Amino acid sequence: MARVYDAQTLQGIVDSIAERMVGEVERGVVANYIPELATVNLNQFGIAIVLANGEVICAGDAEVPFSIQSISKVLTLTLALERCGATLWQRVGREPSGDPFNSIIQLEYEKGVPRNPFINAGAIVTADVVLEGQKPDQAVDQILDLCRRAAGDDDIFVDQNVAKSEAQTGHRNRALAQFISAENNLRCTVEDTLSVYFRQCSIAMSCRQLAHLGRYLALGGQLAETDDAIITQERTRRILALMMTCGAYDASGDFAFRIGIPAKTGVGGGILGIVPGVASVAAWCPGLDNKGNSLLATRALDDLVRQAGWSLFTGDVHFSLEE
Ligand code: GLU
Repeated sequence: MARVYDAQTLQGIVDSIAERMVGEVERGVVANYIPELATVNLNQFGIAIVLANGEVICAGDAEVPFSIQSISKVLTLTLALERCGATLWQRVGREPSGDPFNSIIQLEYEKGVPRNPFINAGAIVTADVVLEGQKPDQAVDQILDLCRRAAGDDDIFVDQNVAKSEAQTGHRNRALAQFISAENNLRCTVEDTLSVYFRQCSIAMSCRQLAHLGRYLALGGQLAETDDAIITQERTRRILALMMTCGAYDASGDFAFRIGIPAKTGVGGGILGIVPGVASVAAWCPGLDNKGNSLLATRALDDLVRQAGWSLFTGDVHFSLEE
């Protein structure tokens, strides 16, 4: 099947997806273990695409900011890889966990080395890598700077109410961090590392901003408007591989099966999906399924990728089979 690259056709596709999502009755459940997220209105849906050439296509509530939550783990992984390169893999693995995002079970078996950087335990380690040698506020600024630079937008902030709510109720994350620390895999204090982690998760962005942010991942680490690179092409390839295999918690296999592009989900209901060389896509709807992924944003990506022929496992055929 031929891939769709044309903005007008894509606009038609996302308009009809957004229209369909408004009428969906089954919308999932908001993440209520973070009280502030439980207050978000379920009846919102947004989607935005930024093409490799910079064209922007939006539909629905694409301008409404939401809590990016675990999508921020892509940012800390980017910074941690730039900071310590391949030695990062001594402190965090690269295998899907097959367990829920906040599970503690594997940590004990695997001596405090989390399975991958996208489960909470792994993201706590990458936050610790970013934090080492500076104050928590500076580390948060560094993450926000990357966010703003990649998105080309200074209007991106931490939602302090969500951050406070996470800090007050983050008992499981505290347990994970304490355990990792007991196994000597944190360099900073548990409270400092978590203060970075809770705030990175609480960054608020709209679908449009998030799709802009993801463009460096679609462009091999490059910022399109300048010759600047956020990260090398080689490391971008690694991040995308991890997004494909571990980006949707213990539903990552199903996500690859159904949709077939690297993606990172968050319990705020957002999903960032990357079609390498083609586009960055953000979809958002706050209701989650039983694995913690947005029910309708997943469905929207499924529809979009199918209609646009964007699955990495589809591809254009460049030769004739008849010869
Ligand atoms: N801040 C959330 C937590 O630590 C992030 C979870 C997520 O989006 O997967 O539980």
